[in-house]
Amino acid sequence: MLTALLPPLASEASLSGLLVVLLIILAVIIAFVIAVTSADNPITQVLRQVAVHTGGTVQGQTLHFMIGDRRATIDFPGSKPGRTRVVLDVWGRSPGTFHIVPAGFGRAFLKMLGDQDLRTGDPAFDAAFIVKAMPEATAAKLFSPEARRQTIGSFNRIRGHSHPTIDLDPYCLTVQVRESLLSEGDLIALVKTVQEFSDYLIGAIPSGDIQFGEMRTSSDSACPVCGSPLLHDIVHCEACRTPHHLQCWDYMGRCSTYACKGKRSVA
Ligand SMILES: [Zn+2]
Ligand SMILES: [Zn+2]
Repeated sequence: MLTALLPPLASEASLSGLLVVLLIILAVIIAFVIAVTSADNPITQVLRQVAVHTGGTVQGQTLHFMIGDRRATIDFPGSKPGRTRVVLDVWGRSPGTFHIVPAGFGRAFLKMLGDQDLRTGDPAFDAAFIVKAMPEATAAKLFSPEARRQTIGSFNRIRGHSHPTIDLDPYCLTVQVRESLLSEGDLIALVKTVQEFSDYLIGAIPSGDIQFGEMRTSSDSACPVCGSPLLHDIVHCEACRTPHHLQCWDYMGRCSTYACKGKRSVA
């Protein structure tokens, strides 16, 4: 009676035939998924094109390369509205902090830095952008009458993009725009801007100069983005636990420790 309910037994040969067909289908599906997610990913593609000029390696959606003897990355933090940034590791060589932020943007972040808004001597630029520097001498060199045109020219290369900013802190020099740039030319323009601002701000500081090396522990109570004390509105990177002001995290869109992959903050 029981045997009557069972389906007719398939022969072993046809079972293994079926298995082979299933394996082939599975292989085709896996190959398709890999093709869609890696080779045709526009971010990976454009980063590979940029790497032809900059050297370096593409890992996921990040290009790691060198500017001179310093490490740099191009990546796309955040999802909406999208961001594109080039980050240069300046640890041990940063002369202070420096920011160029479009007027009307990043208000909560700028509040952390206080009222200072440096005049560059170019009224049109001063009307459109807020410039902050600590110490102020960091900016003096950039906006001296001889250097001003060149500095503003470097910035103008990225000016047409959504909310372009330049941020120097003790760890990184970051050039960032609030849109996804998927053109090779646009990304190379970002790299050039980082390169030039690195020359203007840091110049040829000997690579052996690590006099700030011991400040890392003593400055743990300061926010890595704005440099001011962490007294309130503190969030931590979920990956490396580095504390930031909430406003500074939002402004940068991501952990500001060099090469940290932390995208989320936790209380
Ligand atoms: Zn801060
Ligand atoms: Zn982190």
